[in-house]
Amino acid sequence: DADLRLTRIASSIRVIPDFPKPGIKFQDITTLLLQPKVFRDTIDLFVARYKDKGISVVAGVEARGFIFGPPIALAIGAKFVPMRKPNKLPGKVISEEYSLEYGTDRMEMHVGAVEPGEKALVIDDLIATGGTLCAAMNLLEKVGAAVVECACVIELPELNGRKRLGDKPLFVLVKAA
Ligand code: 5GP
Repeated sequence: DADLRLTRIASSIRVIPDFPKPGIKFQDITTLLLQPKVFRDTIDLFVARYKDKGISVVAGVEARGFIFGPPIALAIGAKFVPMRKPNKLPGKVISEEYSLEYGTDRMEMHVGAVEPGEKALVIDDLIATGGTLCAAMNLLEKVGAAVVECACVIELPELNGRKRLGDKPLFVLVKAA
């Protein structure tokens, strides 16, 4: 039953206080990965939602979108496209700057990985302010893809990331307290 699965997913995520800085309560998904049944349920819940939706691209955000994205992509018969930190991809890239709490960062995607008109799903482990997902969506839209939805395992609702995504739908499995 889906509710029981979600409860197990929520309780498998470890919360580490004061990481990476004092005052931050870090949501650690590595403990979810240690329980194969819970990891499988996590993937299955996304796959149930996204199969048969015509999605041809699963775009995973570095680093933890690289854990959840590929099994979803394989199960729905889509390609997997890594959205990477600067200067990691070897080919020609398209890039997008985005703001962090302090300063800016850049996200990069290989040119030619996604064709105009493709339907894409963006996946990451967690949404906080929404800046990371917005950067990923902007890259996909720049090359003419349509972003169907963004999906995360965890939402931190008090940071209003959902609002920053505007009218783009966001699907999450669990909300952090
Ligand atoms: P945003 O751009 O929404 O503010 O931040 C989301 C990004 O930061 C995601 O790529 C996510 O992996 C990372 N992140 C921020 N806080 C946490 C956290 O508490 N736990 C995990 N696992 N990732 C976090």
